[in-house]
Formats: sequence, structure tokens, C-alpha cells
Amino acid sequence: MARNRVALVGIGKIALDQHVPALAASPDWELAATVSRHGSVEGIEGFADIQTMLDKRPDIGTVSLCLPPVPRFHAAQAVLRAGRNLMLEKPPGATLAEVHILRDLAQAQGVSLYATWHSRMAEGVEAARRLLADRVIHEGRITWREDVRKWHPGQDWIFEAGGMGVFDPGINALSILTRILPVPVHLTAADLDFPANRQAPIAARLTFSGGITADFDFRQQGPQTWDMEFKTDQGIVALRMGGNRLEIDGHKAGGDDSIMGEYPALYARMAELLRDNASDVDLSPMVLVADAFTLGRRGIVEPFEF
Ligand code: NAP
Repeated sequence: MARNRVALVGIGKIALDQHVPALAASPDWELAATVSRHGSVEGIEGFADIQTMLDKRPDIGTVSLCLPPVPRFHAAQAVLRAGRNLMLEKPPGATLAEVHILRDLAQAQGVSLYATWHSRMAEGVEAARRLLADRVIHEGRITWREDVRKWHPGQDWIFEAGGMGVFDPGINALSILTRILPVPVHLTAADLDFPANRQAPIAARLTFSGGITADFDFRQQGPQTWDMEFKTDQGIVALRMGGNRLEIDGHKAGGDDSIMGEYPALYARMAELLRDNASDVDLSPMVLVADAFTLGRRGIVEPFEF
């Protein structure tokens, strides 16, 4: 069967680290063009402007946006208005209202929209969801601490308004949380630490309904931590390595400690959505982040430079 043609927009860190290799290995997809002001992929036709690509390549049915969240909406609207299917990196927009508009536009145009959450494709997530479905959760603790200089070198956008700061990785944890919990969760309190010279938080401590807390920090040196643990009526369930390793009562019970399967799984899901002429837009992780900005107490901490 012919592979679906896709254009990648925003050839930066995640496009090159994950999207390009995932597409190269996919039986469903052919990378047919890129759109980027500076980036490119060898051997693939490149455009500097999205409208030009959409006008010149009507054969490309799907566009995958790897831009940071703030510049993404304009490009997303152009794609949907041109009647193409659209895949969004996480978080799917700078605001919830933007994504509501995109969802309605995709429906009106009869195309597929996929707001991806790559961490939901981590190896242990579905097994954790099945396990927790039959358990009572007494308490949950998320620890998501990483070094922003290592994972987002020089990405000033992440600390600008709309860049989300530490919620850029933190929303990955929340995308897992909202997938695996058997009941809905909402935010009840938050403390946000803003560097004196930045517009987005570098650390956050969150409290949710159901006895769940989260500790997000972008200043972690040494070993990095992407863990969540749940005390249940039948013992402790833990997801480590960003959802890729499942443990039950301290023993490994699933997963393979690798993140390389996440992006191939996202593109397989997008191919499925195209076949079904369906969309997948779950905004529950982003609601928790928006509520943290709404309800959170703001503290000022020392200035941050990359
Ligand atoms: P990035 O490398 O800083 O940006 C991607 C590309 O977007 C840039 O190379 C740039 O390409 C374009 N771009 C940047 N700022 C722009 C602006 N203001 N206007 C228009 N284009 C702009 O970012 P990234 O790390 O790949 O992250 C992109 C998205 O992927 C984010 O939403 C992030 O949360 C998500 N993500 C990142 C990672 C990671 O490890 N970094 C992991 C998972 C998901 P040109 O200058 O060539 O146009």
C-alpha cells in the first residue's frame, strides 16, 4: 500500500532526534517535505514558509508540527484551512482556546487532528493503566526533575510567556497521570517558582485531588528523575524512566527502559486515525497546567541563564 506523505515543520531538536528516525522506519509514512527557516533534512525538499509548501505540494496530505507552542497556532490553522490532516507536538497549543478552535476547524474540514502525548506511548503506561483500574489509590507522588541545560540547550522560548517553563516536561508526567488513573483528577493547589529574569516557572509543586502530589524541577543536576509512585490497596505501583519501566512492590513488572518506541507509536496512531477518518484531542493534561497557572502561588527565585 502507498505510504502517507507527511511534511515536518520546525526542524529543530525533537524533529531531528525523534520524528525523522521514526518516519524513516515507518511502514505507514514517507517524509515528503520539511518547513523550517534554518533546519533541513538531507535529501528532502525543504521550504522556509508553510503556506508555500501547502500551495506547492497538494500531494502531501498530512503535516506534523514540531514548533514550540507559541508559534504553532498560526501554522496549524494554515494546515487545516488547506484541508490537510494535522499532528501536533505536545503541548498542543499555547492556550486551551487555541486547541478548541483547531479541533472545531478540523471537524469542519473533515480532516484528522491528533494532539500527541508522546509519554503516553511509553512502554509501561498501558500496563499501569490496566493495573490501577482495579485498585483503590490512597496516595500518589510524581517526581519529574531534569536539567533544562541538558535537554533544552539555549531554548529561551521555554522561559518566555507561553513556553510553560518546567511544565514543558511536567506536562509529560500529567499526560501519563491522566491516562492511567481510573478516576478524573483536578488540581487543588500549586506553588510556582519563577526566576527573577524569566516569564515561566523553573520549578513547581502541585497538589491534586485523591492525595496526589507532583514535584517538577528544571534544575536537577546528576541523575535525572521521571518517576511516579502510587500507594494502593494492593501495594505500590511505580512508573519510572518517564513511564518506560513499571514496578510492582519494588520489582520490575514491565517496560524496557527505552524511549525509542514512543514516536513510532505516535505515527502508527496517526496512520490509524487517517484510516478511520478520526481525531484524537485529549486536553486533560493541559487543563491541569492551565489550572496551575490560574491557582498557583508565585514565588520569585534566583535569575536563570543557560
Ligand atoms: P526547538 O528545537 O527549539 O524548536 C524547533 C524548531 O521550531 C526550531 O528549530 C525552529 O526552526 C522553529 N522555531 C523555534 N522558534 C520559533 C518561532 N518563534 N517561530 C517559528 N519557528 C520557530 O524545540 P524542540 O525542542 O524541538 O521542541 C519543539 C516542541 O517539541 C515543543 O513543543 C516541545 O515541548 C516538544 N518536545 C520537545 C522535546 C525535546 O526533547 N526537546 C521532547 C518532546 C517534545 P527554524 O528556525 O528552522 O524555523
